[in-house]
Amino acid sequence: MGSRIDPDKIKKDFPILKNKMNGKPLIYLDSAATSQKPKIVIDTITDYYENYNANIHRGIYKIAETATERYIESKRKLAGFIGAEKFEEIIYVRNTTEAINLVALTWGASNIKKGDRILISEMEHHSNIVPWQMLAKKKGAIIDYIKMDKNGEGLSDGSFLEQIEKEPKLLAITHVSNVLGSINDVKSMTKIAKKNGATVLVDGAQSVPHMPVNVNEIGCDFFALSGHKMLAPTGIGALYGKMDLLDSMEPLFGGGDMIKNVGFDSYTTNDLPWKFEAGTSNIEGGIALGAAVDYLEKIGMQKVREHEKELTVYALEKLNKIKGLKVFGYGKENIEKRGGVISFSLDKIHPHDVSAVFDSFGIAIRAGHHCAMPLVRGIFKVGALSRMSFYIYNNKRDVDVSIDAINSVKNIFKVK
Ligand code: PLP
Repeated sequence: MGSRIDPDKIKKDFPILKNKMNGKPLIYLDSAATSQKPKIVIDTITDYYENYNANIHRGIYKIAETATERYIESKRKLAGFIGAEKFEEIIYVRNTTEAINLVALTWGASNIKKGDRILISEMEHHSNIVPWQMLAKKKGAIIDYIKMDKNGEGLSDGSFLEQIEKEPKLLAITHVSNVLGSINDVKSMTKIAKKNGATVLVDGAQSVPHMPVNVNEIGCDFFALSGHKMLAPTGIGALYGKMDLLDSMEPLFGGGDMIKNVGFDSYTTNDLPWKFEAGTSNIEGGIALGAAVDYLEKIGMQKVREHEKELTVYALEKLNKIKGLKVFGYGKENIEKRGGVISFSLDKIHPHDVSAVFDSFGIAIRAGHHCAMPLVRGIFKVGALSRMSFYIYNNKRDVDVSIDAINSVKNIFKVK
């Protein structure tokens, strides 16, 4: 590939994008919810079932060995992709939500005590709020929130510094907001948090698919991600954890694979990462996640990021000219702090109506609270927002058609 990515060429790798929706070519602008899958990922799943479907770890026969090797190989690929040192640091789970809950239920269960503080932020997805609320309720711990800045664009540095001085036991923070696209400087935040004695978890659901990420450089203790947002199937995600921390944690589930020995009244746990993967895994999902990583690496994550920046600036310029339309989050002058997610409101028109008109144009966008009720309802004081989110298969034409759809919404609802 050249110095930049060619979304028209990439679109051809995604079978679903050849389809029509409501008689119009499908334009998919909901990748923050889940990404589409390239043919190579779909073929990897078929290949597994057609050629080497077998349970991993135990089989002393060829196809079981192949399945085991490819499953482990996918962990090596993912570890390399996110800058982890070893595949043993990669625990496969269903998704980001499960990764965060695993930490809350294991690390949290033994490390959070009555009166301890857990620091999160006002821009978190519910999956990085509720597990901590559940833990706090059980333990009598306190949840503090890093506040949004006065423009509601990013987090307030002052609020972060104020909160971190209270010496929370844990900082659990999103890398990129799924509502605003705002990118948090998790590397600096981690450094400061660790100086104050906190363990740090980063929710990478919206960063890993869209930009180069290196967990080692960030310096965090835990990092959560979802495969389905980065071209892989649903039902596979990962928790990265530092070896010493993972070693010190109790397993969440008991059963096959997570043990070394079982007697009538005792057991010993398996080595990492298997200690946390009880029972038969999502084998094809793991292997297909490896194929998704290969696909993204071939393109290059810096190019993915540059492409999304270009599309976002292009879209923001057009959207800012539309009367009655308000974009939430950073403006184009702050594009370095913003990913390819654009939430907006359009006069008093309900986002569900906006979404329905987009649908008639063949465009898939999201409307709602985006699983971030404290931010959308608590801070922005709106019931719902419309959200467009970009990925490697989107081009400027997708933005142009979206602008036509917005103008059509205005006409239908007779808004000047
Ligand atoms: N965190 C963020 C920032 C997200 O955007 C999402 C999903 O949209 C999640 C966590 C939860 O991801 P999953 O539903 O795959 O567990």
